[in-house]
Amino acid sequence: GEAGTGRLRMAVQKKGRLADETFDLLKRCGLSLSQSKNRLYARVQEMPIDILLVRDDDIPALVAGGASDLGIVGGNVFEEERAGGRLGSRVPLVKPLGFSKCRLCIALPKEDTYSQPADLGGMRIATSYPALTEDWLEREGVKGATTVVMNGAHEIAPRLGVADAVCDIVSTGGTLDANGLKVAETIYRSEALLIGGPLEGEAKKVADALQLRIEGVQRSRDAKYVMLNAPRSAVEAISKVLPAADKPTILELAGTAEKVAVHTVCREAVVWEHLEELKRLGASAILVLDIDKMLA
Ligand code: ATP
Ligand code: MG
Repeated sequence: GEAGTGRLRMAVQKKGRLADETFDLLKRCGLSLSQSKNRLYARVQEMPIDILLVRDDDIPALVAGGASDLGIVGGNVFEEERAGGRLGSRVPLVKPLGFSKCRLCIALPKEDTYSQPADLGGMRIATSYPALTEDWLEREGVKGATTVVMNGAHEIAPRLGVADAVCDIVSTGGTLDANGLKVAETIYRSEALLIGGPLEGEAKKVADALQLRIEGVQRSRDAKYVMLNAPRSAVEAISKVLPAADKPTILELAGTAEKVAVHTVCREAVVWEHLEELKRLGASAILVLDIDKMLA
């Protein structure tokens, strides 16, 4: 897919919810794009990568067809293309990226009673994810349900009488609620995926270098640098409360032998969960700092 340019190609969404978080990821990877986002391509300045700016729906096929070496796309879109058999034999490798999380849900009018998948039997389900919906219906053994493909405004389909239920991406549920619908089932949990490969030679080297940067950003996403002062005798207990990949750093405090400074890296949630315990163990001056990047 390098097309003789020697530059790796990566397809990303040009504009939209996925695009915002994708460009944020690239920025956090220390990469800057040279051209305006109005063109088909943007050049990454720091690495030999060209960014192909397209609609998210086109990304799986561009990568599977070899027009692009890599792509960043929602799992919902990728799995729908795969389940629909549209990727042919070159199904790319996948690496979850942990952002753009959303759920694909089947929703029903609020007045319907729902207790199990069999209740969907015989229903017409409006969706732009027919393959994923049909796979789920089959797995659950739902009898006689069919899909009606719509590319937007699914939530009004029941009121229009063209469907009995809806299968669509739900984030807060606000749109469903406003249209008199409720979630019956979550059939797929989606997040952004890095897709592509297997690659060889120079393209593989560039892709590996990019992945290394992405992993650095992922590692630092929830991690915080925690500094606190504590009695020397409590250091052991505190390290158990704040589990980290490495042992904490212990530093002398000027003018006292009983107290030390403890520095460690851990998830922010851990600090909140154990704040009371840390205080009971004598921790004071607890500082929680953002980490820009964690490279290894
Ligand atoms: P395009 O013009 O590229 O076809 P689109 O309208 O199909 O864009 P967007 O609404 O921008 O798509 O959403 C892109 C992807 O972002 C979705 O396919 C999904 O993976 C993810 N996504 C959708 N809704 C949310 C949400 N509320 N929060 C986070 N991610 C979401
Ligand atoms: Mg789209």
